Amino acid sequence: MEKNLYKSIFRGAVILISVALVFSLFYQVPVQAPEKVGISEVVNLIGEGKVSSIEVSGDQLNIQLQDETKLISQKEAGVGITETLVNLGVSPSQLATVKIEAKDESGARFWMGVLIPTVLPLIIFVAIFYFIFRQAKGGVNQAFSFGRSNLSLFTNFKDKISFKDVAGLKEAKQELEEIVGFLKEPKKYLDIGAKIPRGVLLMGAPGTGKTLLARAVAGEAGVPFFHISASEFVEMFVGVGASRTRDAFSTAKKAAPSILFIDEIDAVGRERGAGLGGGHDEREQTLNQILVEMDGFERDSRVIVLAATNRPDVLDQALLRPGRFDRRVMLDLPDIREREEILKIHSQNKPLDESVNLRQIATRTPGFSGADLANLINEAAILAVQKGKKKVAQTHIYDSIEKVILGPARKSRLVSDKEREITAYHEAGHALVAAGLKDSDPVHKVSIVSRGRAGGYTLKLPTEDRRLKTKSQFLADLAVAMGGYVAEQETFKEISTGASSDLQEATRLARLMVTRYGMSENLGPGVFGKDEDFVFLGREIGHTKDYSEVVAGKIDEEISNFLKRGLEKAQKIISAHKAILKKIADTLIQKEVLEQEEFEKLIGGFKLKPVAF
Ligand code: ADP
Ligand code: MG
Ligand code: ZN
Repeated sequence: MEKNLYKSIFRGAVILISVALVFSLFYQVPVQAPEKVGISEVVNLIGEGKVSSIEVSGDQLNIQLQDETKLISQKEAGVGITETLVNLGVSPSQLATVKIEAKDESGARFWMGVLIPTVLPLIIFVAIFYFIFRQAKGGVNQAFSFGRSNLSLFTNFKDKISFKDVAGLKEAKQELEEIVGFLKEPKKYLDIGAKIPRGVLLMGAPGTGKTLLARAVAGEAGVPFFHISASEFVEMFVGVGASRTRDAFSTAKKAAPSILFIDEIDAVGRERGAGLGGGHDEREQTLNQILVEMDGFERDSRVIVLAATNRPDVLDQALLRPGRFDRRVMLDLPDIREREEILKIHSQNKPLDESVNLRQIATRTPGFSGADLANLINEAAILAVQKGKKKVAQTHIYDSIEKVILGPARKSRLVSDKEREITAYHEAGHALVAAGLKDSDPVHKVSIVSRGRAGGYTLKLPTEDRRLKTKSQFLADLAVAMGGYVAEQETFKEISTGASSDLQEATRLARLMVTRYGMSENLGPGVFGKDEDFVFLGREIGHTKDYSEVVAGKIDEEISNFLKRGLEKAQKIISAHKAILKKIADTLIQKEVLEQEEFEKLIGGFKLKPVAF
């Protein structure tokens, strides 16, 4: 708004300057004003033969003498110049020596002379007012349009997305195919009395393809598809959200059959009355309006509302009630086969060389979302270019996995020999304990190349995707986490700060085992404490203690018990296999990186029998 005001002032100035220029063109200021003389003086000068020409402009006479001097005079109004001069006694022969020019006063110049001083200022004022008012009016309009939704309409995408572009997510696609079918042939469904779904909620972790899938529905259905992000509902003015909601729904209804897609609905759909901080009234009003609109749909008003969220747990129950978002579609993180498919889709337009095996990449990327995988392939392509290659190789993708998980490698970081040795033993400790435990995931890679904040790392990955994790697996993880700590202690008789993040992670695991999974014999089953969903400055904080001080003491005791068990196991394995530890560490110091095969070959030379916990 302020910027616009400056703009209109600037425009006014430009107009003024151009007008001034026009003026100066027509009104050249004479260098020296000619002398004014009486008409009889002119007659005398003609008599003396001094006048060369007279220019008549209205009643004004511009006289030019033989010696180039200029004079001005005035004739009687309404009488011609020749007549005037003759009347004053100029003889025709004298008159013949003078060139008389009449200037056409009725021409453009006359009108300019009249109009510019009178009309132009008026025009300027009108113009300036016009611009200023227009800006102001724009401002008013903008203020009013706050209540309108910024709906984006997708009807014919250039890059139309279809279900083919979405890998995996079979159940989700099936569910949504029904919706597409309904939008295409509603009669078929209505005829057998089938109820028309109103709202479909897509739920899933970030990057699992919710937005992608919604766009695919639009592409498949071929109906108008309105897309809005719920955070756009909420603006700085109270009441805007509600009116935007109304607007969005009525636009979609006018275009029926159509799809209205509300992305990130948890931005407004959080449980009412929860949380700290301001802005909640506005959110609640918006949410209420959504509920009202969804109830207001007539049964055959063929508008289907799709919504996406990665926090279904915080959604208001009212949203999930039958008649609203009663269909819920869960989008899981991709399993190994789906990961391979996603990798295939995203590497389609990237040249891969023969070394690439997407199946192996999929094996190494459990827990990666579709977005992570898309990002991974992209990183690999960038890496290939940086290395001057025309094609992406398997090694580029492997390197990118670690980059995505741990941050970029910092090979240039100067590390003293002592530090390298400590890191090598630390990582060797993790790797050895992992190899020595039946319940641990196999080691995929050990490295002492610094990455992100880690000095080195041991990458162990499950052989298969799993949903459940047993207590023994937790305990094995605890022991592996302690492996670095123990190895340092055993070798150097003291601990470095390198183990701090391991300890933090181990403590976190132990706490989960005790307070979430009921894995402690002494405390037994039960969940202790509740992580509240306060939203404060965009972060979730808070933990409600719903247990007594006595239990709190027991929890701490149990956590430290678990940690101790992990530590003891690690100690047992490492002290029994010191030769292996040394061998791994020495190889690491030499080679910096050990891949799975090399590592397995290395420990294969020793007698290491993995034990149960
Ligand atoms: P969400 O909305 O669930 O956070 P998006 O739909 O925005 O995730 O997904 C981000 C990107 O990840 C997509 O643009 C796509 O490139 C990729 N992606 C995610 N899931 C899949 C999938 N199942 N198949 C293909 N690509 C996917
Ligand atoms: Mg999204
Ligand atoms: Zn460590």
